[in-house]
Amino acid sequence: MRIGIVSDIHANLAAFEVVIGALRRVSATERLWCIGDMVGYGPQPNECLDLLRSFDHVCVPGNHDYGLLGKTDIENFNADARVALEWTESVIRPDNRAYLDALDQPWVPDNGPFSIVHASPRDPIWEYVVNVEEARECFSYFETPYCLIGHTHVPSVFRQVKQGGEVKLAQPSAGEQLRLGDDRLLINPGSVGQPRDGNPQAAYAVLDQELGIIEFQRADYPIAETQALMRDLRFPKRLITRLEYGF
Ligand code: ZN
Repeated sequence: MRIGIVSDIHANLAAFEVVIGALRRVSATERLWCIGDMVGYGPQPNECLDLLRSFDHVCVPGNHDYGLLGKTDIENFNADARVALEWTESVIRPDNRAYLDALDQPWVPDNGPFSIVHASPRDPIWEYVVNVEEARECFSYFETPYCLIGHTHVPSVFRQVKQGGEVKLAQPSAGEQLRLGDDRLLINPGSVGQPRDGNPQAAYAVLDQELGIIEFQRADYPIAETQALMRDLRFPKRLITRLEYGF
């Protein structure tokens, strides 16, 4: 089976729709694994949740989802993120709120080789895994060979060369394939709705279970459509402009 891997959609429907379209048409995926942060920053939380929920999928909760639900203190967020979260709270439909409230992690789909957590296996809600030192410690906090993470919005692969051994970091570009083998891996597909690696294209990945390969992908989407909706809602300017820089 082929599975689409998406993270940090952040209520950006224009980006999510393009990614879903590519996963359906180009990659023929039948299932989605979502690494959390469906809401926050963006203008269409309900539409994004409706689209996700229309798929065969699994999803874990992110820090913004927890912020919306009051499961983490809103003071943990910066001022811009708080504005977007407070607006989200005012529009989120009760059924979508209940859906988010029921999410749990870590998730090990079908008792297979992957664990899924939003931020890190050590702290599933808040820890940013950005360097090999942090990654090295995180490898002892999950039992499966591979762990999927999001949260940093940067496509990344941390490879532990052998059990307990050296950890290496790679930042895969579009079209790059990762072959799943004996090395343990922490894998981040990047962000659909607010990329932060200097490339504004929506980021996602595709797992081919038969071939044992994860392919990283990027997609152009109509950024101006999302920005126009954010302007109408008087969202903070920084949240609007960062989308076109991918930062
Ligand atoms: Zn996020």
